[in-house]
Amino acid sequence: MNTILKEDLLTLNKLLSDTLLQGLTYLSNLDQTPTSVSFDPPAERTLSTSGMGGEGALYEFINRFESLMVASSGPRYWGFVTGGSTPAALMGDLLATIYDQNTQTTKGHGDVSAIVEFETIRLLLELFDLPDDFMGGFVTGATMSNFTCLGAARQWVGRRQGYDIAKSGISRPIHILSAVPHSSSIKALSMLGIGSSQVTRIPTINPTREAIDISKLEEAIHQLNGEPFILISSGGTVNTVDFDDMRAISALREKHDFWWHIDAAFGGFAAVSPKHKHLIEGWERADSITIDGHKWLNVPYESAFFFTRKEHTLHQVDTFQNSNAPYLGDPNENFNYLNFLPENSRRFKALAAWFSLVAYGKEGYREIVERTIDMAQELGQFIADSEAFELLAPTRLNTVCFTLKNGNEADVNTFLAKLNDGGKVFMTPTSFNGRAGIRAALVNWRTTAADVQIVKEEMNQVIQGIQSVVL
Ligand SMILES: *Cc1c(COP(=O)(O)O)cnc(C)c1O
Repeated sequence: MNTILKEDLLTLNKLLSDTLLQGLTYLSNLDQTPTSVSFDPPAERTLSTSGMGGEGALYEFINRFESLMVASSGPRYWGFVTGGSTPAALMGDLLATIYDQNTQTTKGHGDVSAIVEFETIRLLLELFDLPDDFMGGFVTGATMSNFTCLGAARQWVGRRQGYDIAKSGISRPIHILSAVPHSSSIKALSMLGIGSSQVTRIPTINPTREAIDISKLEEAIHQLNGEPFILISSGGTVNTVDFDDMRAISALREKHDFWWHIDAAFGGFAAVSPKHKHLIEGWERADSITIDGHKWLNVPYESAFFFTRKEHTLHQVDTFQNSNAPYLGDPNENFNYLNFLPENSRRFKALAAWFSLVAYGKEGYREIVERTIDMAQELGQFIADSEAFELLAPTRLNTVCFTLKNGNEADVNTFLAKLNDGGKVFMTPTSFNGRAGIRAALVNWRTTAADVQIVKEEMNQVIQGIQSVVL
């Protein structure tokens, strides 16, 4: 064995405790760590012939990169839809790395990790109050979850058209209907060979809403004349957290033959709160559902899961089976994640979610969801009451979409750049209904009223600094 490697093996305990100590220092300073840093790209290094050992690598990392780590898992990183990691999720994720299992079969050939994943999916169905007509699995993000669901949907369409797309490839157009699909679904359609331009855009209820117009959807369905199609619904759009009317779509599903996919990457968490559940009720009739773990579930990246109806397992296995490798057995007999989703070898992905679900239960998650929504509502109220800012859409759940009252796009960009450069809070630009805007999405379990207060003060200060430009 290489002598440096051998030395690291002998001092593994010290190496890991030093590493943990470094991580704990980051976590204990998270509130004060800036949400953005500006830096010149660090000087590149080359790969040395002789390594410096784990301790050397740790110190080099600390010296060159540690001060550039932003508080993206902290309470005021409100850009995109960015979650953090609950204490128990961190525990599970650390152990997933340490155990380093290859999570594939539930038959326990070698390890139990797939059984834990199975159990985690069942716990999640309970969290979301969904029936156990669904199966599911973990993938790296909602993008891959949409990919997985739409991959199974693609096979279903082919079967309805009388051929096996997984075997022969696509030879007839696949109809996709959607109002405001997330960009990642479009990306998935492109990766699946369906084509990103195959989406028939159904109008929304009106220009200030992102929810599908049900009567226009029904017209489009009639125009398809009984052809099978896939409907991609929004269970929370990213701009204004608008929801398609799930009850109405559920009723359409009774009358027409289509695959109903719901992208509920973060909006699905409305179901965790009795106060907000009505937004998504009816979703239990979907064929497939996408939900992110690394957003509102507050487990580390890369974590998302999908739910697909058990009656569709065959379409899913048709699409993702790896049975051309003979040692893997019959995909229908031995349940094996490698025949059920895109990846073959996978880490112990579900463990962080399992830890967090077991640690905090339904009540813990209800509290996180309702508190973050309350905080978003408070920020929304501050904007509605303000002289300088205005809401671009009502604050429906956890996301505030706003702009400057008298500002043009350049002013909005100047304000956002200064706000983000301050490092107290991070938000992202958007445009809605023809106007440039800014979004703040609150899903981090650490966020409290004190954080909203800090952000209000920071926003006031930044706007005063550029008021001469804007007002
Ligand atoms: C974040 C998000 C995605 C993409 O998720 P990743 O985890 O980044 O792959 C898809 N759909 C919606 C609605 C999202 O909010």
